[in-house]
Amino acid sequence: MMKAGVVHAREDIRYEDIEKPKAEPGKVVVKVKYTGICGSDIPRVNGDACHYFPNVLGHEFSGVIDEIGEGVTSVKPGDRVAGIPLVPCMKCEDCQKGNYSLCKHYSFIGSREFGSFAEYVAVPEKNVVKFSDDVDFVKGAFFEPATVALHGLERTDYKGGGTVAILGGGTVGMMTMQWAKIFGAKKTVVFDIVDERLDLAKRLGADAGINTLQEGFMEKAMELTGGRGYDYVFETAGNTITMKMAFSLAANKAEVCFIGTPTKELSFTVDEWENMNRKEFKLTGSWMSYSAPFPGHEWDLTAHYFGTGELKFDDSFVYKIQPLSKIAEAFEWFKTPGTVKGKVLINSEQ
Ligand SMILES: [Zn+2]
Ligand SMILES: [Zn+2]
Repeated sequence: MMKAGVVHAREDIRYEDIEKPKAEPGKVVVKVKYTGICGSDIPRVNGDACHYFPNVLGHEFSGVIDEIGEGVTSVKPGDRVAGIPLVPCMKCEDCQKGNYSLCKHYSFIGSREFGSFAEYVAVPEKNVVKFSDDVDFVKGAFFEPATVALHGLERTDYKGGGTVAILGGGTVGMMTMQWAKIFGAKKTVVFDIVDERLDLAKRLGADAGINTLQEGFMEKAMELTGGRGYDYVFETAGNTITMKMAFSLAANKAEVCFIGTPTKELSFTVDEWENMNRKEFKLTGSWMSYSAPFPGHEWDLTAHYFGTGELKFDDSFVYKIQPLSKIAEAFEWFKTPGTVKGKVLINSEQ
């Protein structure tokens, strides 16, 4: 048996004993250290988005390989790993082309099958990525946002030497800014409405931070590019205002990528939309963080650059570390908007 945070119904998550998973052929059992509460987990507990009951959520996790099933060769007990939540079908046309994020017949650790808000989680061998002793287990729970950011960067035909605007200074935004730098950006500018996040962006290496609540911010933003606009624009907030801002900040022939997930209907004036015609910029979106061969270099590069320290981590990414035994309380915090500033991590060992 093991302890887990089990969702029984809407707003009913209980710390209780369930059966410990076994290492079936091709699978590994991970002894979980930390799991981030993802935005997508909130409506699965506080709303009606849970696929079935009882369920164990949790998909952004780090831990140590505890047991391996028959045929597993790439990891061994004791290896430090980060979890990879998507389990694509590998058979459909999208999977055959290596576009795993677009698979319609996928499973997902921590929503469609039991996840890591538990002492142990069982996943296919390919659903873990090893990391070195230089990466601590807290960082290990941040692989997903880091890979989402890198995947978004690569949805453009990204090359070094350009100016880069990042809209939204959350974790994905901070990671996007850092990847842009690692791959040679000439200048990175982060846009947000909270000064602390802009300060953090600068600590992590951004050349400038612009508060978009300030009057005249657009002029200031354009000045930083000599009036040309930005060669690459990454929208990471999913906010109507920043999505429109992306169209204004783009330079002629720019590439614009929407990483943030929209939450509201949005409309553009003719003039706003016409920016895309007049500037001939390319607009694309980004979904999750996978590429061929599965799970993709996004994951290996995250392990590498967290290891070298070039992909920086700031303690302020973490709002609180909560023991698994008190997981219900953590979901309560999300009921009051503005309470949670940063990622809540669940510690599976407490
Ligand atoms: Zn997530
Ligand atoms: Zn598929």
